Amino acid sequence: MNKIEHIGIAVKSIEQSNTLFKALLGEAHYKIEEVASEGVKTSFFKSGPNKIELLEATKPDSPIAKFIEKKGEGIHHIAFAVDDIESEIQRLKNEGFTVLNEVPKKGADNKLVAFLHPKTTNGVLIELCQDIPK
Ligand code: ZN
Repeated sequence: MNKIEHIGIAVKSIEQSNTLFKALLGEAHYKIEEVASEGVKTSFFKSGPNKIELLEATKPDSPIAKFIEKKGEGIHHIAFAVDDIESEIQRLKNEGFTVLNEVPKKGADNKLVAFLHPKTTNGVLIELCQDIPK
């Protein structure tokens, strides 16, 4: 894995949290993107070389809605950038991790993504992401 690509934070309202994170980071979000297949709306912030992704549920059965119901708002996942997501998935499976998406799916921000089940990663949902070649 190359680096932490972003940290994902589950929020109840992107609109309110955009205001809050703008005040926190001193800079407004640079994009909003809806991933309809996942039932989420996302917004992205930069903090120096780092990125923060806010996630709001767009439907009641969205994974973000379920997360907030169980745990409240807060850090939802940590995403790592990888060069070759398929070989990372294979490597991590061989290491005994439970990969939730054996076939990577299209995520926000022009990425292919796959998640590791938090039960195999000390309770932290891990996202792998690879840029989709343009
Ligand atoms: Zn993410």
